[in-house]
Amino acid sequence: MISSMQERQEVLYAAREIAGSGMVIGTWGNVSARSREVQGFVITPSGMDYATLNAEDMVVVDYNRQVLEGRFKPSAETPLHLAVYLARSDVNAIVHVHSPFATAFAVAGMSIPVVLEETAQAIGHEIAVVPYAITGSRRLGEYTVQTLGSEGCAALLANHGVIGCGATVAQALRICYVAEQTAQVALYARMLGSVRDLAPEEVYRLHEGFKNYGQKK
Ligand code: 13P
Ligand code: ZN
Repeated sequence: MISSMQERQEVLYAAREIAGSGMVIGTWGNVSARSREVQGFVITPSGMDYATLNAEDMVVVDYNRQVLEGRFKPSAETPLHLAVYLARSDVNAIVHVHSPFATAFAVAGMSIPVVLEETAQAIGHEIAVVPYAITGSRRLGEYTVQTLGSEGCAALLANHGVIGCGATVAQALRICYVAEQTAQVALYARMLGSVRDLAPEEVYRLHEGFKNYGQKK
């Protein structure tokens, strides 16, 4: 019997969304979610068109990087996802994209500043650049874990893209969208003139306040 159906579906929908929204081109990017049924996580297969995949095509990998279920090779970034899951028990989902504005900051070696209220709310910190390590390497995972620290939820991969980590797939996806929008607005604002970053106390207040956003009691 195939396991982790809910996580498989969430991963697949998010993968279709990153491709459909232009945050990646073609088969790039990858998505994963911790399984609630087995000791491991569900991840997109490597280099495959998300539009043609089914939930059954997602790959289940354990915390020793062994494939538990799946006929396809898991994402080349499996070591990156694995490193984050091992380091951070609060992270249950990871979305990795190559969205253009955020990646421009990653290429420039510049953090994305907290210039929008929603950046403070949904992310809560500037998005720092992970030192360069080649795609798919364990070193990229190690450096990313160091940059994220114990609470960070987003980081820029130098000359590559963005990683968003959340308690749910929806949250990890939202972090990638907000990172991209922040990068776009920060860049345009800089072209217009000076940019005011939100002060740390304003960021803290907005981030804490967001925990009760919407219909939450
Ligand atoms: P995969 O198709 O193997 O997931 O790789 C895409 C990618 O973005 C590598 O960083
Ligand atoms: Zn990538």
